[in-house]
Amino acid sequence: MAQEIEPGLFLGNLTTATNIDWLKKNGITHILTVDSCPLPRKIQEHLPHLITKYIQATDIPREDLLTHFEDSYEFIDRAIESHGRVLVHCYFGVSRSATLVIAYIMKKRELSYADAFQVVKSKRCFVGPNPGFVAQLQLYMDMGWGVDSTNVQFKMYRLQIAADKVRKARILPQNCVDLVKSDPALTTVRPEPTVYRCKKCRRIVASVSNILPHLPGERQIWRHISAKKDFESCDKLLQKRETQVAFCDKIYFVEPLAWMPDITHAVEGKLNCPKCNTKLGSFSWIAGIQCPCGSKIAPAFYLVPSKLDWSNVVQNVQVTRVQERSYSTC
Ligand SMILES: [Zn+2]
Ligand SMILES: [Zn+2]
Repeated sequence: MAQEIEPGLFLGNLTTATNIDWLKKNGITHILTVDSCPLPRKIQEHLPHLITKYIQATDIPREDLLTHFEDSYEFIDRAIESHGRVLVHCYFGVSRSATLVIAYIMKKRELSYADAFQVVKSKRCFVGPNPGFVAQLQLYMDMGWGVDSTNVQFKMYRLQIAADKVRKARILPQNCVDLVKSDPALTTVRPEPTVYRCKKCRRIVASVSNILPHLPGERQIWRHISAKKDFESCDKLLQKRETQVAFCDKIYFVEPLAWMPDITHAVEGKLNCPKCNTKLGSFSWIAGIQCPCGSKIAPAFYLVPSKLDWSNVVQNVQVTRVQERSYSTC
């Protein structure tokens, strides 16, 4: 069974997607499958002009659908714009496919998750994205119905997806290596004025945009099972940043950086200065690290503030930059 959510956009289950008569009767031209198995080949044998897209995903909160929202939006939008009729389906048509349709409606109409959910639910009353997907949809809206790679929650989200893969493979898969940011000591294009240096040898080891700030006692910057209050804490954090009130500085959690040895092929280890070999911190993909303030961050790449010097080349440039970031990160 499938319902037409808006003209030309259908949401349904696998039974519908494999029902040749139903597909023909409803003039379906495009099928977007989000399931653990692709659509059986016989469908395209019966409907040779059918255009399909397949996203492999299981219905668990830790599954990453967010990085497919833009692709699936394009697929659905192109189908509708060309006066086609598109069916989005998973196994039951409740969680995975509903998530992609809600993401589409959110972006198309610039709606919040709650409003877009109601639009879809009013047509198909039993839709229910799992809590991880709900959190991903809320983050999608926070990023302006797109992907903002400077968003701190998005950075942490992607790190957690990568950590799940490291847990299974024991190495960082090739498709996640873009998470390892370039060495700030080697950055020549628009170098950032505020940097952290090794106290002993003065080598630059991080720039301010590499920091993943956290509030004292905050449980986790990004959590898969997320409640509204987690998003409010992000707002609070940014308000604090705007008013120049320091967030927790007992430990600096940072993005993985190219100078860090072993991070792509070990689950945990030390982070020594690449120049003088002084221990500056450590990393842990799976267990994470507990900050003395009580926050537990996983995965964690951290530097100890007492081992670093903070240097700020031009004070007023730095202030401008902090404000810019405040607007772009949440
Ligand atoms: Zn050093
Ligand atoms: Zn802390």
